[in-house]
Amino acid sequence: MVLKSSAELELMHEANAIVLKTLKVVAEAARPGVSTARLDELAEEYIRSHGAMPAFKGYRGFPATLCTSVNDVIVHGIPSPSHRLKEGDVLSVDCGVIWKGYYGDAAVTVPVGAISAEAQALLEVTRECLQRAVSVARPGRRLSDIGEVIQTHAERHGYGVVREFVGHGIGRALHEEPQVYNFGPAGRGPELRPGLVLAIEPMINQGASGVVIDEDGWTARTEDGKLSAHFEYSVAVTHNGPWVLGLERT
Ligand code: MG
Ligand code: MG
Repeated sequence: MVLKSSAELELMHEANAIVLKTLKVVAEAARPGVSTARLDELAEEYIRSHGAMPAFKGYRGFPATLCTSVNDVIVHGIPSPSHRLKEGDVLSVDCGVIWKGYYGDAAVTVPVGAISAEAQALLEVTRECLQRAVSVARPGRRLSDIGEVIQTHAERHGYGVVREFVGHGIGRALHEEPQVYNFGPAGRGPELRPGLVLAIEPMINQGASGVVIDEDGWTARTEDGKLSAHFEYSVAVTHNGPWVLGLERT
């Protein structure tokens, strides 16, 4: 595990501020009739005009700036000019940038127009899973304590926790050690230490946890065809507690 200096954390904060602003731009543009490729263009323009580089484009051959994952797509959906958003969709947007040699990575799931009460509940609980996980990212806690709070909160609502994809350390590489599982039990793995930065990213299914991958090799869907939601922050463990990079310290 790579621990970052305070100067490095400042750069990663700047990287993630660009990511979070990009997600805001995309969320505001995510209306019925807009294609996911158009959202990708908006994101790439925003990132490049602020002096950063898209991190996902070309990563292991991924073709776009964003992952746009609609409804039963869990993660890694590929933006397409022929995929237009519809009223009632839920859209996960995942974005990464490179800024001065450091990576930022975050994701949000947003409603397209008016969505069902069931879909709204899934989004709220998944956001709460992330918030609870962030609050655990402090010195002295163990790595798997993060996954335990995510699993407990999701399963309390009858949702399935995706096992095939995990969060990760982040810094000068997009994916560093350790892997951050979204399930317990608590009390396992290394102790969290100041300077560790983790991309924490619960992926929560409305139904069962099973995953299938499309023939494109990327698009990951729920096996049962039900909805999935995904939220992610890059979080620094500090002496003062968790710092969600890209947001001002509280
Ligand atoms: Mg991400
Ligand atoms: Mg990530």
